[in-house]
Amino acid sequence: MKWREKNGLPWLEANLAGEATVCFSSRIGGVSEKPFDSLNLGILTEDRRLDVLENRRRLAAAAGFDGDRVSMGRQVHGAGLSRAGQEIPGAYSAPGNEPPPEADGQLTEEKLRPLLVLVADCLPVALLGDRGLGMLHCGWRGLAAGIIDQAAGKIGVRAAAIGPGIGPCCFEVGPEVEEAFTDLGPGLMNGRNLNLPEAARRLLARAGVEEVESAGICTYCDERFFSHRRDDGKTGRQAGIAWLN
Ligand SMILES: [Zn+2]
Repeated sequence: MKWREKNGLPWLEANLAGEATVCFSSRIGGVSEKPFDSLNLGILTEDRRLDVLENRRRLAAAAGFDGDRVSMGRQVHGAGLSRAGQEIPGAYSAPGNEPPPEADGQLTEEKLRPLLVLVADCLPVALLGDRGLGMLHCGWRGLAAGIIDQAAGKIGVRAAAIGPGIGPCCFEVGPEVEEAFTDLGPGLMNGRNLNLPEAARRLLARAGVEEVESAGICTYCDERFFSHRRDDGKTGRQAGIAWLN
């Protein structure tokens, strides 16, 4: 995974087996004002709608994907998946009043069809398999609900990338969260802190992915990223985007 930049807008880019491109945006390079400064991509925040749409346009232009073809869902911290093509056209570039259907993961077999999830501490996880590509929004609830297993089973996963999210340094959790991951073996907890990226990595390994590329960036520590927990919920959203080349 490496940083790239165009028009003053940086992003992290990964390449899955030479078949798919994965981008993780940061908060840098947009037009939104505090506390959404500056590349806020979430329209369901209290940010100005026109600023969010301009940010989305800038990201698509810099990273090189077709904003009009983006597939995204209304994320509810579940394990529901959606096939690209089921969504409302223009959900990214020209969203109407009707929200997209509920889904925390997007799947496709179509080339150059960008799949997108919005995050601010949760992990964006991209999966590549013999039967397509997946982009997942993975908070602890989604992981515990089996979103990785479900997506992996549908596409026959063999490569994956985990983007920036809250790290083991900062993710203090209650006993009910710890309980949800005990079957993944020891070492996930350090005091009251859960290692969410490691939980995702173990779930991917269990699904058959030998090597996972990971950003290794904590969104709470690293101020280049939005963090829901650090900013007390009043913040923007970055994105994980992936497409088949
Ligand atoms: Zn941290």
